[in-house]
Amino acid sequence: MNEFVERILDLPWQEPKRSYEVVIIGGGGHGLATAYYLATRHGLTDVAVVEADYIGSGNTGRNTTIIRANYGIAESVRFYQRALELYATLEEETGCWIMHKTKGLLWLAHTESGLRAERARTLMNQAMGAQTAMVTPEEALALCPHLDLTGGGRYPVLGGSYHSGGATARHDRVVWAYAQGALRRGAHILQHTPVTGLLRDGDRVTGVQTATGPISARIVMSAVAGWSTHVADMAEVRLPIRTHPLQALVTNPYALGFEPIVASSELLCYVSQTARGHMLMGAEFDSQPSYSRASSFEFLSSVSAKITKLLPFMADLRVLRQWAGICDITPDYSPIMGETGVPGFVISTGWGTWGFKAIPAGGEAMAELIATGTTPAMIASFGLDRFARDHAMADQGSAGTR
Ligand SMILES: Cc1cc2nc3c(=O)[nH]c(=O)nc-3n(C[C@H](O)[C@H](O)[C@H](O)COP(=O)(O)OP(=O)(O)OC[C@H]3O[C@@H](n4cnc5c(N)ncnc54)[C@H](O)[C@@H]3O)c2cc1C
Repeated sequence: MNEFVERILDLPWQEPKRSYEVVIIGGGGHGLATAYYLATRHGLTDVAVVEADYIGSGNTGRNTTIIRANYGIAESVRFYQRALELYATLEEETGCWIMHKTKGLLWLAHTESGLRAERARTLMNQAMGAQTAMVTPEEALALCPHLDLTGGGRYPVLGGSYHSGGATARHDRVVWAYAQGALRRGAHILQHTPVTGLLRDGDRVTGVQTATGPISARIVMSAVAGWSTHVADMAEVRLPIRTHPLQALVTNPYALGFEPIVASSELLCYVSQTARGHMLMGAEFDSQPSYSRASSFEFLSSVSAKITKLLPFMADLRVLRQWAGICDITPDYSPIMGETGVPGFVISTGWGTWGFKAIPAGGEAMAELIATGTTPAMIASFGLDRFARDHAMADQGSAGTR
């Protein structure tokens, strides 16, 4: 198998048990990484991941694969630095080739206020030990010779920041690596098994209801991204989350050699090159909340118009595919991890448009919480209770375009 010939992970059929120590709803990156770290870090393998469709069918298998830690607040930079570290050693740890590649991330500014935002990001990153530095237009050009510094006469490049730790990894392979690692150690992965309700004993959540019957558990974790409010509602937990579609598109292959990931906060778009040479682009989420995974011409025309001003060679490429996922967006653009106030029910959500890069650190932290009953310091600020305490973790730097 190579990167051009994908063979989907062949999951063995497992007879579901009626009871597990832990049931995780959602077989995306976060659910599977939690199962993996429960097994590898805590020896807890009496775990089932219950997935409505096939594993990776949600946002984890639809994202633009960007991994970075250049966030805007200290707690986030620390958390995503941990994710970067875990990603860098994931191939060695799991023995699976996830096609991890450090490329560097060039974040462009086109106005004075854009430059100020990049300066603030850079100072925060440096204070927290993340590898980010300001660059001049000439330095930006040296990093990405394809750039038109005049921005087509419309979006001049005045400078920006460069995050040398920026990387990509093949999304499906991350899913398969965690799934395989959890399975080998005895966890169950039940595909095509939607959770339709939660079992309750008084206040406590004691398991899940599925089409094939009830499954009881000491702890139930929800990691269902765009469906988070539905599942939380089953536990009578109200989440401050809205579901918005996020679209992406990819062109035909171009000569390999487009090294860094290039992003612009002011143009709200970003681009990188895949291992096969395709140019992969993303933008901001659709403003209208929706559960639709339809692609729109509006997205296609707006991203193409902006990106071809910065990178004129892309005007000669053809768009091959366009798709969407549905994202769980919080009011402060930070995730929600941890306890919910309902005994036996924990959540990992609010990953919005930025949660692929978080998968290893999110999974590791949630596994620690489930196994020890104590919230790790790394995620203590990201609890659901922060909204009631009026302590939002406002960080628009979470979104791939901010
Ligand atoms: C187009 C796009 C581009 C993106 N680009 C990036 C990027 O470059 N970098 C980055 O860091 N992030 C990016 N993201 C965000 C990232 O993909 C997500 O935040 C992350 O994958 C969320 O992982 P998850 O495991 O929480 O959710 P998902 O991968 O969505 O998994 C949730 C799973 O829950 C299942 N489920 C739902 N309801 C039920 C139920 N009732 N019972 C059982 N199972 C259920 C779903 O079928 C799904 O498989 C992007 C997202 C999109 C859509």
